[in-house]
Amino acid sequence: MKNYRIETRCVQSGYQPKDGEPRILPIIQSTTFKYDSAETMGKLFDLETDGPFYTRLGNPTLSAVESKIAELEGGAAALLTSSGQAAVFFSIINICRAGDHIISSASIYGGTFNLFSKTLRDMGISCSFVDPNASAEEISDVFRPETRLLFAETLSNPTLVVLDIEKFATIAHEHHVPLIIDNTFPTPVNCRPIEFGADIVVHSTTKYMDGHATSLGGAIVDSGKFDWTSGSYPELTEPDPSYHGIVYTQQFGQQAYIVKARTHLLRDLGATASPFNAFLLNLGLETLSLRMERHCRNAEAVAAYLASDDRISWVNYPSLPDSPYADRVRRYLPSGSCGVISFGVKGGRATATHFMESLKLAAIVIHVADARTSVLHPASTTHRQLSDDALSAAGITPDMIRLSVGIEHVDDILNDVKQALDACSKG
Ligand SMILES: *Cc1c(COP(=O)(O)O)cnc(C)c1O
Repeated sequence: MKNYRIETRCVQSGYQPKDGEPRILPIIQSTTFKYDSAETMGKLFDLETDGPFYTRLGNPTLSAVESKIAELEGGAAALLTSSGQAAVFFSIINICRAGDHIISSASIYGGTFNLFSKTLRDMGISCSFVDPNASAEEISDVFRPETRLLFAETLSNPTLVVLDIEKFATIAHEHHVPLIIDNTFPTPVNCRPIEFGADIVVHSTTKYMDGHATSLGGAIVDSGKFDWTSGSYPELTEPDPSYHGIVYTQQFGQQAYIVKARTHLLRDLGATASPFNAFLLNLGLETLSLRMERHCRNAEAVAAYLASDDRISWVNYPSLPDSPYADRVRRYLPSGSCGVISFGVKGGRATATHFMESLKLAAIVIHVADARTSVLHPASTTHRQLSDDALSAAGITPDMIRLSVGIEHVDDILNDVKQALDACSKG
């Protein structure tokens, strides 16, 4: 399927039934798999042959969706996890241990920020945060001998900073570390970071990929291009005693990173996706390209309207013609960015709350990036753990509203926004 266009891969990749098999990806709702001989089972355990034996490590429904996502991102292999948080955590812990250091863009999802600044730190992995728009020199200065990776989001949630992926890839590679990109907001339909030099791509599939707010999920995709043999990644290049001395880079080549994540992290930590959730995710992926197109066209119209209304103090939407990121959008997101817009309502926190509560079609939910239009106030919800300094470093102001524009008719969304602004003006 690799030679087909992204729209076709969304629909067809991953599952190709043979003669007489179900047309639709079956839900293999079984924790375990039967084999006739103890010898075959032993070989599976030793990673000498490939095949499912226990769903914590792999399952045919999950594998089909993993192949589809790997093909969508143009990667060598992928792993599904039970949530986006688990995907981000696994992508790091797969190649870092206590004493190591990572560098991350400061403009990232609140949950990822907490993971990096608290939980990883408590585990002995320290993180330095950098302004994604800092110069290459400034970012390079933060590297240490024990730095193992560079992390950033293509389109940051919720601040919508468009990353200069090539700049980040160059910096990472100059320091012989991989670039890990969270590509949740654009999805592979709008951006494929591997084409711009990213080594690993992670997703919260909970957002647009599932698209209907039914299932938490995450994915890790490896480009298969990073050279792990510098000596800094012994977990991939030295014999693994828990699998009879296997060396992942020798045995699995381009699949090394994903095989190791599966055989260690899923084995030891769980966080496996369920076959039923993977089935729903696959249904979502089938319409992903159609939905992303509608999300983007609707959001472009809503952002243009907000920018023209003088009750709005500022609008942040990277696809607006006067966005500071217009050049990067042309380069990295030529078909559109995403459906999420952030903006400030004049009158600050109180008016922002009044506006949100006056919306009728758009619901107040924590979730973003599904088919239904929804709205959120980050400073009092997703980012409420952050201090004022950390909030402003993450680019979040008290009046910021995050509107996740859905795929309804654009006129209905626009009318809802207008009537809510009218309600605020009336006091
Ligand atoms: C939501 C989100 C996550 C976390 O994903 P969950 O599926 O909620 O665990 C990580 N990164 C980004 C950019 C997100 O939007």
